Amino acid sequence: MNLKQQQYINGNWVDANVGNTRDIINPFNQEVIATVAEGDASDTKAAIAAAREAFDKGEWPTTPATERDAIVRRIAELIERDKEELARLESLDTGKTVEESRGDMEDIAGVFRYFAELADKDGGELIDSPIPNSISKVVREPVGVCGQITPWNYPLLQASWKLAPALATGNTLIMKPSEITPLTTIKVFELIEEAGVPAGVANLVLGAGNTVGAELSDNTDVDLISFTGGIVTGKKIMQAASVNVKKLALELGGKNPNVVFADADFEVAVDQALNGVFFHAGQICSAGTRLIVEERIHDEFVNALVERVKKFKLGNGFDEDTQMGPLISAEHLAKVEKYVETGIKEGATVAIGGSRPDDPELQDGFFYLPTIFTNCTTDMRIVQDEAFGPIITVEKFRTEEEAVKLANDSIYGLAGGVWTNDIAKAERCVAKMRMGTVWINDFNLYFPHAPWGGFKQSGIGRELGKLGMEEYTETKHIFQNLKPESMNWF
Ligand code: NAD
Repeated sequence: MNLKQQQYINGNWVDANVGNTRDIINPFNQEVIATVAEGDASDTKAAIAAAREAFDKGEWPTTPATERDAIVRRIAELIERDKEELARLESLDTGKTVEESRGDMEDIAGVFRYFAELADKDGGELIDSPIPNSISKVVREPVGVCGQITPWNYPLLQASWKLAPALATGNTLIMKPSEITPLTTIKVFELIEEAGVPAGVANLVLGAGNTVGAELSDNTDVDLISFTGGIVTGKKIMQAASVNVKKLALELGGKNPNVVFADADFEVAVDQALNGVFFHAGQICSAGTRLIVEERIHDEFVNALVERVKKFKLGNGFDEDTQMGPLISAEHLAKVEKYVETGIKEGATVAIGGSRPDDPELQDGFFYLPTIFTNCTTDMRIVQDEAFGPIITVEKFRTEEEAVKLANDSIYGLAGGVWTNDIAKAERCVAKMRMGTVWINDFNLYFPHAPWGGFKQSGIGRELGKLGMEEYTETKHIFQNLKPESMNWF
């Protein structure tokens, strides 16, 4: 593989301090596709020191925004140039279809372009000072040294949501990708170097969460942590970050309701309910895993889902006809299996799936069949916990109030959907749904211009959109007295 398999610290490609490495596995067949450096706390400290120096003494934070943006735009162009290589690398590493990865790469270039366009549009704000003979203005400045920690499900997409706004606003950073899917992030750091980002500004450390990730969260030279991942890890990071009151942006999990009223466009709602969950084998934070269907159409809706699921083609993400690839790892497959066992014990009914496939061609991969549970109630763990696998639970409702109540019955509040042709009804539901994103007659759609993030335990802060950029800035009020006078108090 023509890819550096090292860390990028202070403008140099380096092995791990103590020489450790980690094999990266293709989840379709368990073949080793790369062996990369496995850093630890000492590598992380070196990267933090480089980022600190680049922020405190380097020119990046005070470089005119237009110059920084030209570099961020150049990264977008390089991603576009190398998008096929990046897409294939992402599919090799995650098992998702190449078709999906190609879409991701287009989105990722768009994210870098969006933040490059946005960052030089904020010239600060003059405010109406109540003090005579004064000027009062508000400016935004970079936060400082940012620790960025990403998950394995959308490795480069999640990284782009952090890298692009941090660079565009003049911060320095240390990125830690998931230890099991680092390949496209390594490749993008090659492009960051090629685009001309100065040494020390963007650093890449490879390694585990409890070493590299923990050091980033604990270290008092880090000013901000932006984390995307599970809720348990998010809580640990929040505690650790309190050591120096780091700014925090947490994008955590979801257990997202998808409410279907009887007056919805039936065929489209069925189709999107499937896309909303089984894309990337359900390993999506915003997957619509809690399907909440009006009783009048419940049986017909479930039957339609089951008939469609029977025809799903599982396989190698590199085969053109594959619709769903494997799960990410043996460990994650075991977790999904356990979750299904729990659902059965709790009394839910498996309408389809509920096991690994028996196709001999899929035995080397971490495959699980698309699964639909019916007879589900909100007290069940399978309805409340995030499984992060290809599983839908179906609940029934009779009234609008009941639908909203079920949708909100969760510790999470990342995203949700409402399907109906009655727009007034949709608006009433949306106004009461406690989630960061709600789709009406759509599901799982996002773009760089709209903020992304969760209510409740789905997180703190927002990525993407103007808010996603503001996360990487501090607000400073500058007051200037044009006619200073003594107060003669003391
Ligand atoms: P995870 O929490 O296990 O790991 C995420 C990252 O945190 C990895 O890089 C990991 O190495 C690191 N980490 C682990 N322990 C750490 C520690 N103690 N300190 C610091 N870092 C640590 O999550 P995952 O299994 O990689 O990803 C799946 C989760 O991510 C799901 O819950 C999913 O919903 C969530 N997710 C959320 C969003 C969103 O936008 N809200 C997007 C994608 C994924």
